[in-house]
Amino acid sequence: MFEKILIANRGEIALRVIRAAREMGIKSVAVHSTADSDAMHVRMADEAICIGPAPGSESYLNVASIIAACEVTGAQAIHPGYGFLSENANFVQIVEDHDLTFIGPTAEHIRVMGDKITAKDTMKALGVPCVPGSDGGVPDLDSALKIGEEFGYPVIIKATAGGGGKGMKVANSAEEMKSAFQTARAEGKSNFGNDEVYIEKYLTTPRHIEIQVFGDGKGNAVHLGERDCSLQRRHQKVFEEAPGPAISPEERARIGKVCADAVAQINYIGAGTIEFLYENGEFYFIEMNTRLQVEHPVTEAIFGVDLVREQIRVAEGLPMSFGQDDLHINGHAIEVRINAEKLPNFAPCPGHISHFHAPGGLGVRMDSALYDGYSIPPYYDSLIGKLIVHGRDRPEALARLNRALGELIVDGIDTTIPLFHALLEAEAVQTGDYNIHWLEHWLDANMAEG
Ligand code: ADP
Repeated sequence: MFEKILIANRGEIALRVIRAAREMGIKSVAVHSTADSDAMHVRMADEAICIGPAPGSESYLNVASIIAACEVTGAQAIHPGYGFLSENANFVQIVEDHDLTFIGPTAEHIRVMGDKITAKDTMKALGVPCVPGSDGGVPDLDSALKIGEEFGYPVIIKATAGGGGKGMKVANSAEEMKSAFQTARAEGKSNFGNDEVYIEKYLTTPRHIEIQVFGDGKGNAVHLGERDCSLQRRHQKVFEEAPGPAISPEERARIGKVCADAVAQINYIGAGTIEFLYENGEFYFIEMNTRLQVEHPVTEAIFGVDLVREQIRVAEGLPMSFGQDDLHINGHAIEVRINAEKLPNFAPCPGHISHFHAPGGLGVRMDSALYDGYSIPPYYDSLIGKLIVHGRDRPEALARLNRALGELIVDGIDTTIPLFHALLEAEAVQTGDYNIHWLEHWLDANMAEG
């Protein structure tokens, strides 16, 4: 059993892991950059250790410092949170080489799923339905144009190493292919050091539906239903809900089983998310994330489970604490991402928090590392909190979200809170009748500058 674990992350997700560890009687070690000395995760952990200067590349991504921090503090395992080193197979290898435990999947699984072409091939072989498109990488513009003709425009060109919405370009015609192909390659090269791209049919009205899976590394796996994350801006999620308003119990059981069986076959260990586009009753695999997702709390709310606790358990070699038959959906949950950003352009807006008040009451969860007087450093991403509400059904969850947003106070900086007040007024949000393009159109119509 672990006595002490180190959390190689910051912000709300570091608190999330510290909390789970504390409930399990495990001590936690926070790591931090010089810019984060006053951060909440540093205050909340049992121990804290500085691992480098402000830029993430020199601190939260500094593998040597993180390994040294484990050795100095006696931490036996590392939880990576999301982002930073959470999907870095080389890091996992180094952790294992130092006789430490990585709380997450194996380096091999991360490597396979981290390359989107290999991930797609693997999933296809495991019986998971995929978006029609090129058979693997597309080496040059001529081949790209042939594929465009074969599948018909629009198509999307994707960097195999891409992530976070980077390295993806849509081409609506052969004329657009030339620049889209080159841009996707260039973005892949500059952001991820890999210019290999592949091409998919671009779906025009899909939802983003992702299935939460969980494995014990010994061939047992379950699914915890879906999350609908279709409300996106620039391919980034802003509002997530579970269960998905468009998914029937039969569809959930069917695709859930396909996913659980797929990860069971590869002895997957820990939490994973299999992302799909869903259009006209069909699911199309796009990628797998081999980590805890930002939006995991909506799944926790409706299933009444603690996914981080579960991650730690299986990393210790214990069995999962639930089987598929123990998992039943209770009600409806919604998460909104509160970012330090100024509308209408979503410009990052770090700064001093003069006052912070978290909402409370029945069915409300606020995961945030903010506190009165905290100064948000400008070096990291702009997520400053997640507001999660849980109700007996979708209308109750929406009403609760409205109520909780009204209680939430973040003074001193601009945030995306007004976006959610406005979104709750929109009919498509009230009815759940939206797809991945809806929010961009709504923003153009409702949040145009001036
Ligand atoms: P990333 O790894 O950058 O998050 P994904 O492959 O997960 O990239 O895609 C992110 C988002 O991009 C999806 O949620 C969806 O909105 C859009 N997208 C990706 N593939 C397609 C496609 N074939 N057709 C339409 N939209 C797509």
